[in-house]
Amino acid sequence: MRVALISDVHANLPALEAVLAEAERAGAEAVWSMGDQVGYGAEPDAVVARLRAAGAVCVLGNHDAAVAGIIGTEEFNPLAAQAVRWTAANASPDTVAWLRSLPPTVQSEGWARAHGTLRDPMWEYLATGRAAAGHFAAQTTQWSAVGHTHVPMVLWEEGEGFDLAAPGDDAIVVLDERRACVNPGSVGQPRDGDARASWALLDTGAGDVRFHRVGYDIGAAQARIRAAGLPEALGARLVRGR
Ligand code: ZN
Repeated sequence: MRVALISDVHANLPALEAVLAEAERAGAEAVWSMGDQVGYGAEPDAVVARLRAAGAVCVLGNHDAAVAGIIGTEEFNPLAAQAVRWTAANASPDTVAWLRSLPPTVQSEGWARAHGTLRDPMWEYLATGRAAAGHFAAQTTQWSAVGHTHVPMVLWEEGEGFDLAAPGDDAIVVLDERRACVNPGSVGQPRDGDARASWALLDTGAGDVRFHRVGYDIGAAQARIRAAGLPEALGARLVRGR
């Protein structure tokens, strides 16, 4: 089976459309989203509708949870909190109800998925040895996938420690006997200095993951952020990929 791995769409419809079109051309039969479907971007309803139409299997991210009223915004930075409040006020009740229904973790095909880590799905960044140890201790499957950092990464359990890769565009990572965790990067708000939308294609038959970057109409996403009255900085950072 070929699965499009996506994460952190953040209500950026032009970026999501570009990724789903490329995923379809690449033969993806399923979509798994590792959370933060909304927040920051201007089109929460359209993004959620597009994900649902694609049959995407999604987990709950911290932004999703805040918009749905499951958690507060005390832990968010001021810009993120402002975007959460805008989204909660402007998303349809149907969108909010769908976000509220999302599970923090999902498991299928030997893959466990969460937004942050399997130990702390909502908040923990898989960005330290400590977080990696906690994540793999909670991982009962061979493979896992996360988002949250907005940076593409593969992490392997290696003896007592970990091995790490930061795959660029078109990188192919072969899954071997080691337990691994994949982060496909962010569709709607990349933060690794590459402004293009990030995603990855998992081929369970071939046993590999191919990382991809796809350009999209950043100007359109920015115009919608501006028109929505969201903070200008949320559009400006899309060009920098930071
Ligand atoms: Zn995010």
